[in-house]
Amino acid sequence: MASTTSLIARGAGRAYGDAALNSQMTLLMEGSNRILFFDDATGRLTCEAGVLLADILNVFVPQGWFPPVTPGTQYVTVGGMIASDVHGKNHHGAGSFGEYVESLELAVSDGRTLRCADDENADLFNATIGGMGLTGVILRATFRMLRIETDLIVQETIRANNLREAFDVLENSLSATYSVAWIDSLARDDKLGRSVVFTGEHLAAAELPKDRTSVPFSAKLPNGRKVPFDLPGMTLNRFSVSAFNALYVGSRKFGRSLINFQPYFYPLDSIAEWNRIYGRAGFVQYQVAFPRESSFEGISAILRTASDYGLGSFLSVLKLCGRQRNSPLSFPREGYTLTLDYPIRARTFSMLLELDRIVDDHGGRIYLAKDARMGARMLERGYPRIAEFAAVRQRFDPDRKMRSLLSDRLGI
Ligand SMILES: Cc1cc2nc3c(=O)[nH]c(=O)nc-3n(C[C@H](O)[C@H](O)[C@H](O)COP(=O)(O)OP(=O)(O)OC[C@H]3O[C@@H](n4cnc5c(N)ncnc54)[C@H](O)[C@@H]3O)c2cc1C
Repeated sequence: MASTTSLIARGAGRAYGDAALNSQMTLLMEGSNRILFFDDATGRLTCEAGVLLADILNVFVPQGWFPPVTPGTQYVTVGGMIASDVHGKNHHGAGSFGEYVESLELAVSDGRTLRCADDENADLFNATIGGMGLTGVILRATFRMLRIETDLIVQETIRANNLREAFDVLENSLSATYSVAWIDSLARDDKLGRSVVFTGEHLAAAELPKDRTSVPFSAKLPNGRKVPFDLPGMTLNRFSVSAFNALYVGSRKFGRSLINFQPYFYPLDSIAEWNRIYGRAGFVQYQVAFPRESSFEGISAILRTASDYGLGSFLSVLKLCGRQRNSPLSFPREGYTLTLDYPIRARTFSMLLELDRIVDDHGGRIYLAKDARMGARMLERGYPRIAEFAAVRQRFDPDRKMRSLLSDRLGI
Protein backbone atom coordinates (compact mmCIF):
# COMPACT_ATOMS: atom_id res chain seq x y z
CA MET A 1 0.00 0.00 0.00
CA ALA A 2 2.82 2.35 0.79
CA SER A 3 4.14 2.13 -2.77
CA THR A 4 0.99 2.60 -4.89
CA THR A 5 -0.42 5.97 -5.89
CA SER A 6 -4.07 5.06 -5.47
CA LEU A 7 -6.26 2.03 -4.74
CA ILE A 8 -9.65 0.80 -3.55
CA ALA A 9 -10.77 -2.50 -2.05
CA ARG A 10 -13.40 -4.55 -3.85
CA GLY A 11 -15.53 -7.23 -2.19
CA ALA A 12 -18.00 -9.19 -4.29
CA GLY A 13 -18.74 -6.22 -6.60
CA ARG A 14 -22.43 -6.11 -5.63
CA ALA A 15 -22.51 -2.32 -5.21
CA TYR A 16 -24.46 -1.06 -8.21
CA GLY A 17 -22.15 1.70 -9.40
CA ASP A 18 -18.46 2.62 -9.39
CA ALA A 19 -17.74 2.43 -5.65
CA ALA A 20 -15.42 -0.57 -5.87
CA LEU A 21 -13.44 0.45 -8.95
CA ASN A 22 -10.16 2.30 -9.26
CA SER A 23 -8.40 2.71 -12.61
CA GLN A 24 -4.93 2.19 -11.07
CA MET A 25 -5.39 -0.57 -8.52
CA THR A 26 -8.49 -2.44 -7.39
CA LEU A 27 -7.67 -4.83 -4.59
CA LEU A 28 -9.75 -8.01 -4.84
CA MET A 29 -10.66 -9.18 -1.34
CA GLU A 30 -12.58 -12.37 -2.05
CA GLY A 31 -9.48 -14.52 -1.49
CA SER A 32 -9.21 -13.19 2.03
CA ASN A 33 -12.01 -15.47 3.17
CA ARG A 34 -11.22 -17.31 6.38
CA ILE A 35 -13.57 -17.54 9.31
CA LEU A 36 -11.18 -17.15 12.24
CA PHE A 37 -13.08 -17.40 15.51
CA PHE A 38 -16.60 -17.96 16.80
CA ASP A 39 -17.77 -17.78 20.39
CA ASP A 40 -20.83 -19.99 20.78
CA ALA A 41 -21.72 -18.35 24.09
CA THR A 42 -21.95 -14.78 22.80
CA GLY A 43 -22.38 -15.19 19.01
CA ARG A 44 -19.21 -13.15 18.42
CA LEU A 45 -17.69 -13.95 15.00
CA THR A 46 -14.26 -12.88 13.74
CA CYS A 47 -13.48 -13.30 10.06
CA GLU A 48 -11.46 -11.90 7.20
CA ALA A 49 -13.16 -9.15 5.22
CA GLY A 50 -13.56 -11.17 2.01
CA VAL A 51 -15.79 -13.83 3.60
CA LEU A 52 -19.07 -14.06 1.72
CA LEU A 53 -22.32 -13.68 3.60
CA ALA A 54 -23.49 -16.84 1.74
CA ASP A 55 -20.67 -18.80 3.41
CA ILE A 56 -21.56 -17.42 6.83
CA LEU A 57 -25.18 -18.52 6.26
CA ASN A 58 -24.07 -21.97 5.09
CA VAL A 59 -21.91 -22.53 8.15
CA PHE A 60 -23.94 -20.84 10.87
CA VAL A 61 -27.65 -21.15 10.04
CA PRO A 62 -27.60 -24.93 10.65
CA GLN A 63 -26.04 -24.17 14.05
CA GLY A 64 -28.78 -21.70 14.97
CA TRP A 65 -27.09 -18.36 14.20
CA PHE A 66 -28.10 -15.63 11.77
CA PRO A 67 -26.48 -12.34 10.69
CA PRO A 68 -27.92 -9.48 12.73
CA VAL A 69 -28.61 -7.49 9.55
CA THR A 70 -28.68 -8.75 5.98
CA PRO A 71 -29.03 -6.96 2.65
CA GLY A 72 -31.19 -8.41 -0.15
CA THR A 73 -28.43 -10.63 -1.52
CA GLN A 74 -26.14 -13.08 0.23
CA TYR A 75 -23.39 -12.67 -2.40
CA VAL A 76 -21.69 -9.78 -0.60
CA THR A 77 -18.57 -9.76 1.55
CA VAL A 78 -18.28 -8.73 5.19
CA GLY A 79 -15.94 -5.89 4.15
CA GLY A 80 -18.47 -4.64 1.59
CA MET A 81 -21.29 -4.80 4.14
CA ILE A 82 -19.29 -2.73 6.62
CA ALA A 83 -18.02 -0.21 4.05
CA SER A 84 -21.64 0.37 2.91
CA ASP A 85 -23.08 0.01 6.44
CA VAL A 86 -25.82 -2.10 4.87
CA HIS A 87 -29.37 -2.16 6.16
CA GLY A 88 -32.01 -4.85 5.93
CA LYS A 89 -35.70 -5.35 6.56
CA ASN A 90 -35.11 -4.91 10.30
CA HIS A 91 -33.60 -1.42 10.25
CA HIS A 92 -36.57 0.11 12.09
CA GLY A 93 -35.70 -1.98 15.16
CA ALA A 94 -32.17 -3.28 14.74
CA GLY A 95 -30.35 -0.51 12.87
CA SER A 96 -27.64 -1.12 10.30
CA PHE A 97 -24.89 -3.76 10.14
CA GLY A 98 -22.38 -1.36 11.70
CA GLU A 99 -24.29 -1.47 15.01
CA TYR A 100 -23.08 -5.06 15.49
CA VAL A 101 -19.44 -4.55 14.52
CA GLU A 102 -17.27 -4.59 17.62
CA SER A 103 -13.85 -4.08 16.07
CA LEU A 104 -12.00 -3.90 12.78
CA GLU A 105 -8.47 -4.32 11.56
CA LEU A 106 -7.85 -1.64 8.99
CA ALA A 107 -4.83 -1.20 6.71
CA VAL A 108 -4.42 2.55 6.25
CA SER A 109 -2.65 4.34 3.41
CA ASP A 110 0.85 4.43 4.95
CA GLY A 111 0.84 0.64 5.34
CA ARG A 112 0.06 0.47 9.08
CA THR A 113 -2.63 -1.90 10.36
CA LEU A 114 -4.79 -0.24 13.01
CA ARG A 115 -7.33 -1.77 15.36
CA CYS A 116 -10.51 0.32 15.36
CA ALA A 117 -13.37 0.05 17.84
CA ASP A 118 -15.52 2.29 20.01
CA ASP A 119 -12.63 2.61 22.47
CA GLU A 120 -9.72 2.70 20.02
CA ASN A 121 -9.41 4.99 16.97
CA ALA A 122 -13.13 5.62 17.43
CA ASP A 123 -13.38 8.35 14.79
CA LEU A 124 -11.66 6.11 12.23
CA PHE A 125 -13.96 3.24 13.24
CA ASN A 126 -17.08 5.35 12.66
CA ALA A 127 -15.79 6.80 9.41
CA THR A 128 -14.94 3.31 8.10
CA ILE A 129 -18.47 2.01 8.75
CA GLY A 130 -20.32 3.38 5.74
CA GLY A 131 -17.07 4.96 4.47
CA MET A 132 -17.14 3.16 1.08
CA GLY A 133 -13.56 1.89 1.41
CA LEU A 134 -12.12 5.41 1.50
CA THR A 135 -10.48 5.20 4.94
CA GLY A 136 -8.42 2.05 4.23
CA VAL A 137 -8.72 -1.67 3.55
CA ILE A 138 -10.71 -3.63 6.13
CA LEU A 139 -8.72 -6.81 6.76
CA ARG A 140 -10.72 -8.43 9.57
CA ALA A 141 -13.89 -7.74 11.51
CA THR A 142 -15.53 -8.97 14.68
CA PHE A 143 -19.32 -8.72 14.90
CA ARG A 144 -22.20 -10.27 16.81
CA MET A 145 -24.54 -12.85 15.31
CA LEU A 146 -28.18 -13.42 16.30
CA ARG A 147 -29.59 -16.66 17.77
CA ILE A 148 -32.34 -18.39 15.78
CA GLU A 149 -34.23 -21.61 16.50
CA THR A 150 -35.30 -22.53 12.95
CA ASP A 151 -34.53 -21.40 9.41
CA LEU A 152 -38.15 -20.49 8.74
CA ILE A 153 -39.78 -17.08 8.71
CA VAL A 154 -43.39 -16.43 9.62
CA GLN A 155 -44.47 -14.03 6.93
CA GLU A 156 -47.51 -11.79 7.11
CA THR A 157 -48.63 -10.36 3.76
CA ILE A 158 -50.80 -7.25 3.93
CA ARG A 159 -52.37 -5.30 1.07
CA ALA A 160 -52.14 -1.50 1.05
CA ASN A 161 -54.31 0.34 -1.47
CA ASN A 162 -52.20 3.48 -1.65
CA LEU A 163 -49.10 5.09 -0.20
CA ARG A 164 -50.86 6.40 2.91
CA GLU A 165 -52.06 2.90 3.74
CA ALA A 166 -48.58 1.50 3.11
CA PHE A 167 -47.12 4.06 5.55
CA ASP A 168 -49.81 3.19 8.10
CA VAL A 169 -49.13 -0.55 7.83
CA LEU A 170 -45.38 0.00 8.24
CA GLU A 171 -45.89 2.36 11.21
CA ASN A 172 -48.24 -0.18 12.81
CA SER A 173 -45.66 -2.93 12.29
CA LEU A 174 -42.91 -1.36 14.37
CA SER A 175 -42.93 -4.35 16.70
CA ALA A 176 -42.39 -6.77 13.79
CA THR A 177 -38.76 -7.84 13.42
CA TYR A 178 -38.78 -7.45 9.63
CA SER A 179 -40.97 -5.29 7.41
CA VAL A 180 -40.87 -4.02 3.85
CA ALA A 181 -43.36 -2.91 1.17
CA TRP A 182 -43.26 -3.73 -2.55
CA ILE A 183 -44.85 -0.92 -4.51
CA ASP A 184 -46.67 -0.99 -7.83
CA SER A 185 -44.60 1.76 -9.43
CA LEU A 186 -47.11 2.41 -12.22
CA ALA A 187 -50.23 2.88 -10.09
CA ARG A 188 -51.55 6.44 -10.30
CA ASP A 189 -53.99 8.90 -8.75
CA ASP A 190 -55.81 7.45 -5.75
CA LYS A 191 -53.91 4.17 -6.17
CA LEU A 192 -50.52 5.89 -6.14
CA GLY A 193 -48.17 3.82 -3.99
CA ARG A 194 -50.40 0.74 -3.70
CA SER A 195 -48.30 -2.03 -2.31
CA VAL A 196 -47.93 -5.35 -0.63
CA VAL A 197 -46.33 -5.16 2.81
CA PHE A 198 -44.39 -8.17 4.10
CA THR A 199 -43.58 -8.50 7.76
CA GLY A 200 -41.54 -11.37 9.16
CA GLU A 201 -40.44 -13.13 12.34
CA HIS A 202 -38.00 -15.97 12.88
CA LEU A 203 -40.12 -19.03 13.67
CA ALA A 204 -39.54 -20.45 17.15
CA ALA A 205 -38.79 -24.20 17.43
CA ALA A 206 -41.98 -24.72 19.45
CA GLU A 207 -44.01 -23.42 16.47
CA LEU A 208 -42.54 -25.80 13.87
CA PRO A 209 -45.07 -27.63 11.71
CA LYS A 210 -45.48 -31.32 12.67
CA ASP A 211 -43.54 -32.64 9.66
CA ARG A 212 -40.55 -30.46 10.56
CA THR A 213 -40.30 -30.78 14.33
CA SER A 214 -37.15 -32.88 14.05
CA VAL A 215 -35.59 -30.70 11.31
CA PRO A 216 -35.48 -27.07 12.43
CA PHE A 217 -32.75 -26.30 9.87
CA SER A 218 -32.99 -27.59 6.33
CA ALA A 219 -31.58 -24.76 4.28
CA LYS A 220 -29.74 -25.40 1.04
CA LEU A 221 -28.27 -22.71 -1.17
CA PRO A 222 -30.55 -22.01 -4.12
CA ASN A 223 -29.54 -23.59 -7.43
CA GLY A 224 -29.39 -20.25 -9.15
CA ARG A 225 -31.43 -20.66 -12.31
CA LYS A 226 -29.62 -18.59 -14.90
CA VAL A 227 -31.15 -16.00 -17.17
CA PRO A 228 -29.62 -17.62 -20.27
CA PHE A 229 -28.88 -14.51 -22.33
CA ASP A 230 -29.42 -10.78 -22.20
CA LEU A 231 -33.13 -10.36 -22.74
CA PRO A 232 -33.99 -7.63 -25.22
CA GLY A 233 -34.57 -4.31 -23.50
CA MET A 234 -38.20 -4.44 -24.62
CA THR A 235 -38.91 -7.18 -22.12
CA LEU A 236 -39.14 -4.68 -19.33
CA ASN A 237 -41.29 -2.14 -21.06
CA ARG A 238 -44.19 -0.37 -19.44
CA PHE A 239 -46.60 -3.22 -20.12
CA SER A 240 -44.55 -6.04 -18.69
CA VAL A 241 -43.79 -4.09 -15.51
CA SER A 242 -47.42 -3.20 -15.20
CA ALA A 243 -48.43 -6.83 -15.73
CA PHE A 244 -45.89 -7.95 -13.16
CA ASN A 245 -47.19 -5.49 -10.62
CA ALA A 246 -50.84 -6.27 -11.28
CA LEU A 247 -50.10 -9.93 -10.76
CA TYR A 248 -48.12 -9.20 -7.67
CA VAL A 249 -50.49 -6.76 -6.09
CA GLY A 250 -53.71 -8.26 -7.38
CA SER A 251 -53.56 -11.96 -6.90
CA ARG A 252 -51.02 -13.08 -4.37
CA LYS A 253 -51.97 -14.78 -1.16
CA PHE A 254 -52.49 -12.50 1.80
CA GLY A 255 -52.26 -13.38 5.45
CA ARG A 256 -49.84 -15.62 7.33
CA SER A 257 -47.47 -18.12 5.71
CA LEU A 258 -44.25 -19.96 6.49
CA ILE A 259 -41.30 -19.37 4.21
CA ASN A 260 -37.67 -20.44 4.19
CA PHE A 261 -35.27 -17.59 5.02
CA GLN A 262 -33.63 -17.70 1.58
CA PRO A 263 -36.61 -16.75 -0.61
CA TYR A 264 -37.72 -14.35 2.14
CA PHE A 265 -34.45 -12.40 2.30
CA TYR A 266 -32.87 -13.13 -1.08
CA PRO A 267 -35.57 -13.43 -3.76
CA LEU A 268 -33.21 -12.36 -6.56
CA ASP A 269 -30.47 -14.83 -5.59
CA SER A 270 -32.53 -17.73 -6.91
CA ILE A 271 -32.07 -16.36 -10.45
CA ALA A 272 -28.35 -16.19 -11.17
CA GLU A 273 -27.40 -13.21 -13.33
CA TRP A 274 -30.87 -11.70 -12.88
CA ASN A 275 -29.39 -8.35 -13.90
CA ARG A 276 -29.30 -9.61 -17.51
CA ILE A 277 -33.08 -9.34 -17.56
CA TYR A 278 -32.49 -5.66 -18.26
CA GLY A 279 -30.75 -6.32 -21.58
CA ARG A 280 -27.30 -5.25 -22.75
CA ALA A 281 -27.80 -1.59 -21.88
CA GLY A 282 -28.16 -2.53 -18.21
CA PHE A 283 -29.97 -0.58 -15.54
CA VAL A 284 -29.50 1.90 -12.73
CA GLN A 285 -30.79 1.57 -9.24
CA TYR A 286 -31.99 4.67 -7.41
CA GLN A 287 -32.27 4.43 -3.63
CA VAL A 288 -33.12 7.48 -1.57
CA ALA A 289 -33.82 8.16 2.10
CA PHE A 290 -35.98 10.98 3.43
CA PRO A 291 -36.35 12.37 6.94
CA ARG A 292 -39.56 11.12 8.50
CA GLU A 293 -41.40 14.44 8.32
CA SER A 294 -40.92 14.89 4.55
CA SER A 295 -41.08 11.20 3.55
CA PHE A 296 -44.71 11.06 2.49
CA GLU A 297 -44.54 14.19 0.33
CA GLY A 298 -41.17 13.26 -1.15
CA ILE A 299 -42.04 9.68 -1.99
CA SER A 300 -45.44 10.65 -3.41
CA ALA A 301 -43.73 13.18 -5.69
CA ILE A 302 -41.16 10.62 -6.83
CA LEU A 303 -43.77 7.99 -7.62
CA ARG A 304 -45.94 10.53 -9.45
CA THR A 305 -43.04 11.80 -11.56
CA ALA A 306 -41.79 8.29 -12.34
CA SER A 307 -45.27 7.16 -13.27
CA ASP A 308 -45.71 10.21 -15.56
CA TYR A 309 -42.54 9.19 -17.35
CA GLY A 310 -44.07 5.76 -17.93
CA LEU A 311 -40.77 4.11 -17.02
CA GLY A 312 -41.98 1.40 -14.68
CA SER A 313 -39.55 0.10 -12.09
CA PHE A 314 -39.38 -3.68 -11.95
CA LEU A 315 -38.39 -3.50 -8.32
CA SER A 316 -39.85 -0.78 -6.09
CA VAL A 317 -39.28 -1.17 -2.40
CA LEU A 318 -40.34 1.01 0.51
CA LYS A 319 -38.87 0.62 3.99
CA LEU A 320 -39.28 2.43 7.30
CA CYS A 321 -35.87 3.03 8.90
CA GLY A 322 -34.98 3.62 12.53
CA ARG A 323 -32.29 5.76 14.11
CA GLN A 324 -29.16 6.62 12.11
CA ARG A 325 -25.84 5.15 13.21
CA ASN A 326 -23.12 7.49 14.41
CA SER A 327 -21.17 7.25 11.16
CA PRO A 328 -20.88 10.36 9.01
CA LEU A 329 -21.49 8.62 5.67
CA SER A 330 -23.96 5.95 6.81
CA PHE A 331 -26.99 6.04 4.51
CA PRO A 332 -30.04 4.85 6.49
CA ARG A 333 -31.64 7.58 8.58
CA GLU A 334 -34.81 7.81 10.63
CA GLY A 335 -37.55 8.03 8.01
CA TYR A 336 -38.38 6.15 4.81
CA THR A 337 -36.21 4.76 2.07
CA LEU A 338 -37.42 4.04 -1.46
CA THR A 339 -35.58 1.88 -4.00
CA LEU A 340 -36.32 1.89 -7.73
CA ASP A 341 -34.69 0.07 -10.67
CA TYR A 342 -34.64 1.58 -14.14
CA PRO A 343 -33.40 0.00 -17.36
CA ILE A 344 -31.10 2.41 -19.15
CA ARG A 345 -32.97 4.31 -21.85
CA ALA A 346 -32.48 7.75 -23.35
CA ARG A 347 -35.04 9.23 -20.94
CA THR A 348 -33.89 7.45 -17.79
CA PHE A 349 -31.23 9.99 -16.89
CA SER A 350 -33.39 13.06 -17.48
CA MET A 351 -36.06 11.51 -15.25
CA LEU A 352 -33.49 10.80 -12.55
CA LEU A 353 -32.41 14.46 -12.63
CA GLU A 354 -36.02 15.39 -11.90
CA LEU A 355 -36.11 12.86 -9.08
CA ASP A 356 -32.87 14.36 -7.70
CA ARG A 357 -34.59 17.74 -7.43
CA ILE A 358 -37.44 16.17 -5.47
CA VAL A 359 -34.98 14.43 -3.15
CA ASP A 360 -33.07 17.66 -2.62
CA ASP A 361 -36.23 19.73 -2.01
CA HIS A 362 -37.32 17.28 0.70
CA GLY A 363 -33.99 16.99 2.49
CA GLY A 364 -33.30 13.46 1.26
CA ARG A 365 -30.18 11.66 0.13
CA ILE A 366 -28.98 8.99 -2.30
CA TYR A 367 -27.36 5.70 -1.22
CA LEU A 368 -23.70 5.67 -2.29
CA ALA A 369 -23.65 1.87 -2.67
CA LYS A 370 -26.37 2.14 -5.32
CA ASP A 371 -25.23 5.33 -7.01
CA ALA A 372 -23.62 5.56 -10.44
CA ARG A 373 -24.45 9.09 -11.51
CA MET A 374 -25.14 11.75 -8.88
CA GLY A 375 -23.06 14.93 -8.62
CA ALA A 376 -21.01 16.43 -5.77
CA ARG A 377 -23.74 18.91 -4.82
CA MET A 378 -26.28 16.15 -4.12
CA LEU A 379 -23.72 14.44 -1.92
CA GLU A 380 -22.94 17.55 0.13
CA ARG A 381 -26.56 18.44 0.70
CA GLY A 382 -27.62 14.89 1.49
CA TYR A 383 -24.73 14.07 3.83
CA PRO A 384 -24.25 17.11 6.09
CA ARG A 385 -21.44 15.38 8.06
CA ILE A 386 -19.21 15.04 5.00
CA ALA A 387 -16.68 17.57 6.41
CA GLU A 388 -16.27 15.39 9.51
CA PHE A 389 -15.58 12.40 7.26
CA ALA A 390 -13.10 14.43 5.19
CA ALA A 391 -11.24 15.49 8.36
CA VAL A 392 -10.70 11.87 9.47
CA ARG A 393 -9.62 10.94 5.99
CA GLN A 394 -7.18 13.85 5.85
CA ARG A 395 -5.55 12.60 9.06
CA PHE A 396 -5.10 8.99 7.92
CA ASP A 397 -4.75 9.49 4.17
CA PRO A 398 -3.35 12.98 3.52
CA ASP A 399 -2.26 12.02 -0.02
CA ARG A 400 -5.70 10.59 -0.89
CA LYS A 401 -4.46 7.16 -1.86
CA MET A 402 -7.74 5.45 -1.07
CA ARG A 403 -9.87 6.46 -4.02
CA SER A 404 -12.55 5.02 -6.25
CA LEU A 405 -14.23 6.18 -9.43
CA LEU A 406 -17.16 7.10 -7.16
CA SER A 407 -15.02 9.26 -4.86
CA ASP A 408 -13.34 10.95 -7.84
CA ARG A 409 -16.75 11.65 -9.38
CA LEU A 410 -18.10 13.09 -6.13
CA GLY A 411 -14.95 14.92 -5.11
CA ILE A 412 -14.72 13.09 -1.77
C1 LIG B 1 -29.63 -7.87 -5.28
C2 LIG B 1 -29.04 -6.86 -4.33
C3 LIG B 1 -29.73 -6.51 -3.19
C4 LIG B 1 -29.19 -5.58 -2.30
N1 LIG B 1 -29.91 -5.26 -1.19
C5 LIG B 1 -29.40 -4.35 -0.32
C6 LIG B 1 -30.10 -4.04 0.87
O1 LIG B 1 -31.18 -4.57 1.14
N2 LIG B 1 -29.53 -3.17 1.75
C7 LIG B 1 -28.31 -2.59 1.49
O2 LIG B 1 -27.83 -1.81 2.33
N3 LIG B 1 -27.62 -2.86 0.36
C8 LIG B 1 -28.14 -3.74 -0.53
N4 LIG B 1 -27.43 -4.05 -1.66
C9 LIG B 1 -26.12 -3.43 -1.85
C10 LIG B 1 -25.00 -4.31 -1.28
O3 LIG B 1 -25.40 -4.91 -0.09
C11 LIG B 1 -23.82 -3.42 -0.96
O4 LIG B 1 -23.43 -2.74 -2.12
C12 LIG B 1 -22.61 -4.21 -0.42
O5 LIG B 1 -21.71 -3.30 0.07
C13 LIG B 1 -21.94 -5.03 -1.49
O6 LIG B 1 -20.89 -5.78 -0.89
P1 LIG B 1 -19.69 -6.28 -1.78
O7 LIG B 1 -18.86 -7.21 -0.98
O8 LIG B 1 -20.20 -6.76 -3.09
O9 LIG B 1 -18.89 -4.92 -1.96
P2 LIG B 1 -18.40 -4.19 -3.30
O10 LIG B 1 -19.56 -3.90 -4.16
O11 LIG B 1 -17.27 -4.90 -3.90
O12 LIG B 1 -17.88 -2.83 -2.63
C14 LIG B 1 -18.79 -1.93 -2.03
C15 LIG B 1 -18.00 -0.88 -1.25
O13 LIG B 1 -17.33 -1.53 -0.17
C16 LIG B 1 -15.95 -1.27 -0.22
N5 LIG B 1 -15.25 -2.45 0.26
C17 LIG B 1 -15.44 -3.74 -0.10
N6 LIG B 1 -14.60 -4.53 0.58
C18 LIG B 1 -13.86 -3.73 1.38
C19 LIG B 1 -12.80 -3.96 2.32
N7 LIG B 1 -12.34 -5.18 2.58
N8 LIG B 1 -12.27 -2.88 2.92
C20 LIG B 1 -12.72 -1.64 2.67
N9 LIG B 1 -13.71 -1.37 1.82
C21 LIG B 1 -14.27 -2.40 1.17
C22 LIG B 1 -15.66 -0.95 -1.68
O14 LIG B 1 -14.50 -0.14 -1.81
C23 LIG B 1 -16.92 -0.22 -2.08
O15 LIG B 1 -16.83 1.13 -1.74
C24 LIG B 1 -27.93 -4.98 -2.56
C25 LIG B 1 -27.21 -5.34 -3.72
C26 LIG B 1 -27.76 -6.28 -4.60
C27 LIG B 1 -26.97 -6.64 -5.82
